[in-house]
Amino acid sequence: MNTNYSAQELIGLEEKYGAHNYHPLSVVLEKGEGVYVWDVDGKRYFDFLSAYSAVNQGHSHPRIINKLKEQADKLTLTSRAFYNAELGIYEKFVTELFGFDKILPMNTGAEAVETALKIARKWGYEKKGIPAGEGIIVVCKDNFHGRTTTIISFSNDEDARKHFDPYTSGFIAVEYSNVDALKEVIAEKGDKICGFLVEPIQGEAGVNVPAEGYLKACFDLCQENNILFIADEIQTGIARTGKMLAIDHENIKPDMLILGKALSGGAYPVSGVLTRNEVMDVIHPGQHGSTYGGNPLACAVAREALQVVLDEKLADNAEKLGQIFRAEINKLVEEFPLFKSVRGKGLLNAILINDTPESDTAWNFCVKMMENGLLAKPTHGNIIRFAPPLVMNEEQLMECIAIIRKTAAEF
Ligand SMILES: *Cc1c(COP(=O)(O)O)cnc(C)c1O
Repeated sequence: MNTNYSAQELIGLEEKYGAHNYHPLSVVLEKGEGVYVWDVDGKRYFDFLSAYSAVNQGHSHPRIINKLKEQADKLTLTSRAFYNAELGIYEKFVTELFGFDKILPMNTGAEAVETALKIARKWGYEKKGIPAGEGIIVVCKDNFHGRTTTIISFSNDEDARKHFDPYTSGFIAVEYSNVDALKEVIAEKGDKICGFLVEPIQGEAGVNVPAEGYLKACFDLCQENNILFIADEIQTGIARTGKMLAIDHENIKPDMLILGKALSGGAYPVSGVLTRNEVMDVIHPGQHGSTYGGNPLACAVAREALQVVLDEKLADNAEKLGQIFRAEINKLVEEFPLFKSVRGKGLLNAILINDTPESDTAWNFCVKMMENGLLAKPTHGNIIRFAPPLVMNEEQLMECIAIIRKTAAEF
């Protein structure tokens, strides 16, 4: 134990001195390496949350951490009042990697979503010719795009919304995985719609995988109607679903791509919006920015984090292990009535628990898995998300399946 505080005392400090805006499992972590994390008592766990897919490259990846240290010794922050020696190199690298003309760098995911919304609206007025003040952005029901006032304005999660009003207007929500719903709203208001914002898989909503062809059909509709197709790949991107981007499964290239989370491998908050010149060109000096956005530390870390994903072929590994995970869990679905089904892509998966959405069965199951050395958390309803770091190997995955099986047998 490396700390002078016990786990209970550390939990007590957070309870007493921190806002209660999260409901954590009662485990206090102090160390991570690859697919593992350790608590303050030295107990080791498999991490099946990966910080909501921010640590796809594994905890404290040595290459990313070395780059962080190296750059921290040189230069961390200049603000964008000056040029810095890392930004341009990173921008060239990341735009070429994902096939876009330009990136606008930010820090957190929510900031990148806000950035995309602002660009889409400005593009709508200045390029598409939407009358002033009438721009609409279409979103999907059960979305999760972050926590700012504007973003929660178009959420339908009461916890996320209630008493944070008045809300930002100009958003219409349509049913997810329903092409006709989008088609209808476009038929009615297409000339006023700037963009369609969508998660290729709804992560927070419980790993909702849309019907095959849904994203492509929406993309085509957007193209036909001069509407920007905006993919929020903050959680699904960067190899998580078995391809570099989840939209690669349907071979489409969004007009705007939003990245965050694993863009830095968990070492630093780095996010960004990528798009083509004709869209990005609506932004001029003074119209958008962030003190930390595009700082040299972030740029150096993100470039290394992406290079690690490529060098270690993490997308292929996620695809391979994801197939095994779902096949093995499907056997458990047969064996245990507790499990209803499993769904997902690559290593973004969820097990649906056989109980009402209000019951705490999924939570209790997660507590038991924790005792058995595996950390995962329920998402909305009785659904448990399983998203380990992508550096996992097959042997480790089978060990994890055994833990899930053992927990189900004890439950
Ligand atoms: C996590 C997440 C966000 C918000 O990112 P933050 O860094 O927490 O602000 C936005 N969209 C999706 C799909 C996410 O999973």
